[in-house]
Amino acid sequence: MVTRQIERRGVRDAAVLTAMRAIPRHEFIPERDRHRAYEDHPVPIGSDQTISQPYMVAVMTERLRLHRKSRVLEIGTGSGYQTAVLATLAAEVFTIERLPELSARARMTLTALGYDNIRYRVEDGSVGWPEAAPFDGIIVTAAAPRVPAALVAQLGDPGVLAAPIGSRGSQDLVTISRSEDGDVTTTHFRCSFVPLIGVEGFPD
Ligand code: SAM
Repeated sequence: MVTRQIERRGVRDAAVLTAMRAIPRHEFIPERDRHRAYEDHPVPIGSDQTISQPYMVAVMTERLRLHRKSRVLEIGTGSGYQTAVLATLAAEVFTIERLPELSARARMTLTALGYDNIRYRVEDGSVGWPEAAPFDGIIVTAAAPRVPAALVAQLGDPGVLAAPIGSRGSQDLVTISRSEDGDVTTTHFRCSFVPLIGVEGFPD
């Protein structure tokens, strides 16, 4: 999966590649679809949600430019796979999921795999986790109509935010890189994520 789907498409960050080689992706997928765990597209995880395509996980993580001391906010815990990649690279991960059943299952999987640097919350993540801000990286793994202002406010300096922005059906991967020179917004490529449902997302 990593060599064919990720490295060949240009992801070069050695830490991201090593983490994704080591994490057992099948553990994050319900039994019924486990045989599809390493395929090149999203896979159902129940509750009408999906585990993101491996390439998207790799690219978005690479863009965050994480290091050992990073504190990261993830919106959309889903299966917990992206959370595992973040928690392998960073010091602390704050992850928010709106569906309690998914959060509970992800927490069980991640705890069983030994991750102890993750904090979980069940609520609308489009407003972020203000008490824990600022974050070195913020990743939104569901599609938003615009970059949520609350998340931009919770980004540290330096810091990078990555999110799919667009309509319910199709989005652009957008990053905001913050430095002492200001914020730089970059639009990367087309992508397709399930919708972010919430105050700064789409209506339910
Ligand atoms: N990163 C996940 C993974 O590796 O499995 C994939 C996440 S899935 C593409 C998007 C997730 O965002 C879904 O689990 C969905 O329930 C969640 N979600 C949607 N709106 C949300 C919101 N406002 N706050 C938190 N989670 C939300």
